[in-house]
Amino acid sequence: MKLCRFGEKGKERPGVWMEDGRILDVRALAFHIEDYNEHFFVNYGVEQLKLLLADPGANFIAAKGVRLGPPVARPSKIICVGANYADHAKEFGHEIPTEPILFSKATSALNGPFDPIHLPVESQVVDGEAELAVVIGKRTSKVRKAEALDYVAGYTVLNDVTERIVQKANGQWFRGKGFDSFCPLGPFLVTSDEVPVLGNLRVWQKHNGEVLQDGNSKDMMFDVPFLIEYISQGMTLNPGDIIATGTPSGIGSARSPQVLLAAGDVVEVGVDRVGAQRSNVV
Ligand code: ZN
Repeated sequence: MKLCRFGEKGKERPGVWMEDGRILDVRALAFHIEDYNEHFFVNYGVEQLKLLLADPGANFIAAKGVRLGPPVARPSKIICVGANYADHAKEFGHEIPTEPILFSKATSALNGPFDPIHLPVESQVVDGEAELAVVIGKRTSKVRKAEALDYVAGYTVLNDVTERIVQKANGQWFRGKGFDSFCPLGPFLVTSDEVPVLGNLRVWQKHNGEVLQDGNSKDMMFDVPFLIEYISQGMTLNPGDIIATGTPSGIGSARSPQVLLAAGDVVEVGVDRVGAQRSNVV
């Protein structure tokens, strides 16, 4: 099942993306499901949606021309993993980490999967990072990796857009990765049952139609179950929280000559079986 949120920015409604070009308007069918937020995951969750889908009535809209927002309403946190693919760590001039490097993206940076990415006035060196993102479905604390995937609602795609000068100039990566619109998420939350094999998914990025990144999730140094165990030992993951699992090699700023995001460009990122985004840069 593919969960999506549709409608105007800030007023999105929860939906289920159907393969026939329609969206099920979940709130029209079940008014108590206001949004895909922590309350939803705790009280209803994916199982409840499956029950609703058995008798959806006429609560569908045509998907064509409808704006999609991030598939999860503002989560309590977005945790990112830096340098999780060895080839990317090398191209970025980073040592190969012996433990996951965690950082955070501001939740205010969240953007719809087809919304424009706004370059900040001060930006000089901006590029994207295609990433597989995990959406947590249950409160997760001190979980072992053998059980870790039981706590996952599903997967989505995250573009970890970054201003490299600011990232490197500030002691922290937070500002360079936290500008408004620097976190396109979606288009869907694809439920775990549709992504049975996590360790062999193509993760890619295109810049104006040209392939920049063409990696595979099997090359992650720290895989999803390990990351959930590692993070949850001391930090509770709340339902709806996002873990971005890192990006493979090929980013534009590490190339010679550099391929950077400029106004008028189109950046696409995707993960096999999970989805693809397309953003205009303005
Ligand atoms: Zn990243």
